[in-house]
Amino acid sequence: MTVVTITAGHGGGDSGAVNGQITEAQIATDMRNMIAFYLERDGLVVRTDGEGSKNQALKEAIKLIRGSKLAVEIHTNSFYLPTAQGVEALAQPKDESICRKLCKAVADVMGIPIRGNRGGYKAEGSGQHSRLGYVRNGGIILELFFISNPKELAIYHSKKWLVARELAKVIKNYVGG
Ligand SMILES: [Zn+2]
Repeated sequence: MTVVTITAGHGGGDSGAVNGQITEAQIATDMRNMIAFYLERDGLVVRTDGEGSKNQALKEAIKLIRGSKLAVEIHTNSFYLPTAQGVEALAQPKDESICRKLCKAVADVMGIPIRGNRGGYKAEGSGQHSRLGYVRNGGIILELFFISNPKELAIYHSKKWLVARELAKVIKNYVGG
């Protein structure tokens, strides 16, 4: 059986970045649940770090990575300037190619830029997040878009199911399930 891990970068008592009423935790748990829904519907075995709005601690999420063919943790980026934009993914070099595909899927659906000059891929040392233990253990941190950017947030709200569906498609193709 092909096992895939999809986790939320924030949740439980940790809201992550905030923009008005919406938190990074809400987006991350929501997207985790939607991607898991599509992957399970396609017959893959999916490990998650919680259901609904629940989210286990990072050290529990990290334990899920071993034995998974792919592990992706969902985050949103945030910056003090509301114009910062785009999608990117942090991972070990072994995952650069799948990172590029995940970023392209998000960019195509949302019509937002791919950050940097490596198709959205960023080495683990370059991120602003403190949860890079996830990357060190072989997982991918996918920063979907900037929660601090009102335009990207609005696009996300209207297209989130499509984003989830396309990400699930890329993941399924990658793991060959
Ligand atoms: Zn985050």
